[in-house]
Amino acid sequence: MTPAELGEFLAPHGISAVEARRLFAHHVQHGRRNWDVKNLAREKIARVAAVVDTPTLEVIDRRRDPADGFMKYLFALADGARVEAVRIPIFDDKYTLCLSSQAGCPLDCVFCATGRLGFARNLATWEIVEQLRIVRDEADRPLRGVVFMGMGEPFLNYDNVITAARIFADPSGGAISGRAITISTSGVVPAIRRFTDERHPYRLAISLTGATRARRRSLMPAAEKTWPIDELIDAVRAHAAATRDRVTLEYVVIRGVNCGADDAAALCELLRGIPVRLNLIDVNDATGRFAPPSDDERRAFIDALQPLGAPIVRRYSGGKDVNAACGMLAATA
Ligand code: SAH
Ligand code: SF4
Repeated sequence: MTPAELGEFLAPHGISAVEARRLFAHHVQHGRRNWDVKNLAREKIARVAAVVDTPTLEVIDRRRDPADGFMKYLFALADGARVEAVRIPIFDDKYTLCLSSQAGCPLDCVFCATGRLGFARNLATWEIVEQLRIVRDEADRPLRGVVFMGMGEPFLNYDNVITAARIFADPSGGAISGRAITISTSGVVPAIRRFTDERHPYRLAISLTGATRARRRSLMPAAEKTWPIDELIDAVRAHAAATRDRVTLEYVVIRGVNCGADDAAALCELLRGIPVRLNLIDVNDATGRFAPPSDDERRAFIDALQPLGAPIVRRYSGGKDVNAACGMLAATA
């Protein structure tokens, strides 16, 4: 529940909206540790405790990569499913959390460890929020951002993901700026259009990774089959127009596969006239099937993309030593 929903739920029990917010904020800060809610009568607290449930996730493993400080968490869900989240240090003073929206993923992007797992189920809102609450609880610096870039396709679990984002952005919840919450999708067109129409403050990132139908089909078969690239690009154009902002596109770069001169030319053609920001992510693949580009290959690709006139950022993808980097989340201890 969001704080507002909790208020509605508790109203028949004689709890005011302000008291419900106080309870919510207390729960986010203290979790299951105590019910010592300030400025609330004991008798009211007992009434609330009798009607609400505050389940949590079990942390099975935490691993910190000593090279860059990225820390991977492995959580067990009540039914035995497992998901991972990654705590990402930002400079020396804060963290961002990369969290999961599904156990596994129903899409089958060939380069992604989560995709190879198959799909178990959508996460409930509380299971998404609890990842943040637990990580924040033991963090030595403030947690100021959230990215839905862990396991799963967030836009196939739209309602629960948006409710979780609302809770993260709520001053009585995560108190995280809406602009510091990013939802990454492999291209679920109807959900992108809905997100655009609903005018959320959260940022959108779209995983493109191929510039033609054929290339995208070979790398992201289910996504391309269900939401063909032309429809996706139309939705990207509409989102840019509605937000009057550049749309972030993510492109996983794979040596010898999708970063040649033909790929760059196709990308320039595809995106002509659309304000975008391009994030290039070197592929990570523990199986060795896919390799990142050489420095020369990457440089030539970036040079060939200059006609786009778009900012091109090479995204750091950390925590490789603990299999926490992009595309490596496979929920194994
Ligand atoms: N399902 C969503 C969000 C999770 S994946 C999506 O696909 O967007 C988050 C990002 O990691 C996506 O941009 C995805 O393309 C990228 N990614 C997946 N596998 C990767 C890999 N092996 N190496 C690098 N990036 C990868
Ligand atoms: Fe699912 Fe995203 Fe991995 Fe594709 S890249 S399989 S959509 S998690």
